[in-house]
Amino acid sequence: MKTVSCSNCGADTRIIRDRYNLVDMGIPAVVTNMEIAECNKCGNADPIIAHLDDLMRTVAVAVVCSPSPLRGTDVRFLRKYIGKTAEQFARLLNVDKTTVSKWENDRDPVGNQSDRLIRLLVIGLGDGLEEKLKAVVENLPEIGTSYRRGNIEVDLEKMSYQYA
Ligand SMILES: [Zn+2]
Repeated sequence: MKTVSCSNCGADTRIIRDRYNLVDMGIPAVVTNMEIAECNKCGNADPIIAHLDDLMRTVAVAVVCSPSPLRGTDVRFLRKYIGKTAEQFARLLNVDKTTVSKWENDRDPVGNQSDRLIRLLVIGLGDGLEEKLKAVVENLPEIGTSYRRGNIEVDLEKMSYQYA
């Protein structure tokens, strides 16, 4: 059995599986079946993120395939997924750098055409997303027909996603 020490007090922890919200980490998803090291002494809970690359790819696919318009956290996550600075990203989209910043901070909504262009950029440049091109293009007319109320939910065990 693996043991993990508490990051807060160093005491032994027990490993549980639970839901965990990754939004504070800049990932627009809630995961289920996440291993969490729960401290027996101070109650601190440390998430154990395994298969991070798979998780990031699954969230990226869920975001670009979503019928919901891109939100600020989505844009920032996708930009980082393809490894671009705000400036590089702005140049690819032929917009001003401040526009990207406004999108990412939800101070300006992403325009309908920029939304679609961002998705296609991410499919083109994002690792392991090429096979989703057709699905994303076919989904373009659906964007804006519904809004996500909650976050994308990823089952870490099955590495599958659903829209909450
Ligand atoms: Zn502790």
